[in-house]
Amino acid sequence: KPTIVLVGRPNVGKSTLFNRLTRTRDALVADQPGLTRDRHYGIGRVGDRDYLVVDTAGFDPVAKAGIMHEMARQAEQAIAEADVLLFLVDGRAGLTPHDEQIAARLRRAGRPVHLVVNKAEGMERSIVAADFHALGLGAPLPVSAAHGDGVKQLVDLVLADFPLDEEPEEAAAHSPRIAIVGRPNVGKSTLVNSLLGEERVIAFDMPGTTRDAIAIPFEREGRHYTLIDTAGLRRRGKVFEAIEKFSVIKTLQAIEQCNVVVLVLDASQDISDQDAHIAGFILDSGRALVVAVNKWDSIDDYRRELVKRAIEHKLGFLSFARFHHISALKGAGVAAVMKSVDAAYAAAMVNLSTPRLTRTLQAALTKQAPPRSGMFRPKMRYAHQGGNNPPIVVIHGAALDQVPASYVRFLERTFMDAFKLQGTPLRIQFRTSH
Ligand code: GDP
Repeated sequence: KPTIVLVGRPNVGKSTLFNRLTRTRDALVADQPGLTRDRHYGIGRVGDRDYLVVDTAGFDPVAKAGIMHEMARQAEQAIAEADVLLFLVDGRAGLTPHDEQIAARLRRAGRPVHLVVNKAEGMERSIVAADFHALGLGAPLPVSAAHGDGVKQLVDLVLADFPLDEEPEEAAAHSPRIAIVGRPNVGKSTLVNSLLGEERVIAFDMPGTTRDAIAIPFEREGRHYTLIDTAGLRRRGKVFEAIEKFSVIKTLQAIEQCNVVVLVLDASQDISDQDAHIAGFILDSGRALVVAVNKWDSIDDYRRELVKRAIEHKLGFLSFARFHHISALKGAGVAAVMKSVDAAYAAAMVNLSTPRLTRTLQAALTKQAPPRSGMFRPKMRYAHQGGNNPPIVVIHGAALDQVPASYVRFLERTFMDAFKLQGTPLRIQFRTSH
């Protein structure tokens, strides 16, 4: 999936545009407790095309020290990993020296750059163009992030340069694609080695310096899997070695490309905001999930109790997933993780017939009727399955646009319980039929 990176000086409207570009996915988790909202990474979708969006806060390419320097360093990493850059400027403020500095940096980026003039609502196209043409980054594209004008055209233009993804399901039917993710040093590489070390790795090609996540097919207990690599693994002797440092973008790409995520946590450390962020993305993506609480060998019973409670408190929104306490180093619990991966994959790929779904819907309605909103009470008539990974239950009826989030969650839980779906989230969609 293409990675779109937003750059620009502060106050040009990057976060507003970011929210526009990622809105569809964000809406799904807007009322989930425990998620930090100030993310700089998001997933967007137009039609059936997904893309990643990265916002670089306050990019100052000439800052040499301090927080501005740190932000610049992160922006540089994002630029290096971008497929396409959107350089945002402020149409009302006009061209500034800071814009020119950033433009100079971007001309050397070796990536496609689109010059986007924000806050352009009600402005003459020719005036917008005249002011910013001097940047030498092609024709400026006017948008209004606040009003949404021009945003759809912008996304279409950006995505037109990227070929459509092939459907991974076709290529490797029934072989789960797994991504092992987590913040640095939690033990991902150790787990990968425990998984791949003794196992047969089928035709593993040395990865080049490609920015795409690569897929490593392997076989375990007679079952086939594909590991979506997040760190550019390289085989050295018997073990695999990560050749890059942790990359958020690679992590997000891998989550998008896999069927089942194995989220690795480090029991010897506190659960951090970074853990919660990654967990939030997994939830957004709708992927199936298994959580491996690693380094369980290294802590005593007292600490184990604390870790369990901290996880419940901070990652309670992942309760659909199975949690395992493991030692990747000693190989303890790894087989159980793989069992749960199989179960989560099966749940994510489940096929549910319309009659069974509709019966379950009717039982739910009897148990607890949807609340009235204004004059209307929502009417839910029947349900069919609208997709997999995550399973989507499409409910048909009338007056369905005001169903409260709490009731949607009640329905989700009811379907998940009824069909014993463990390890995958489930989504409800409403469709008005006449
Ligand atoms: P990554 O950055 O997530 O790939 O983490 P690594 O796999 O490189 O592991 C980071 C450190 O944690 C290394 O020193 C590992 O030896 C250590 N480690 C990994 N798994 C375990 C475990 O299960 N128990 C203990 N005690 N240490 C572990």
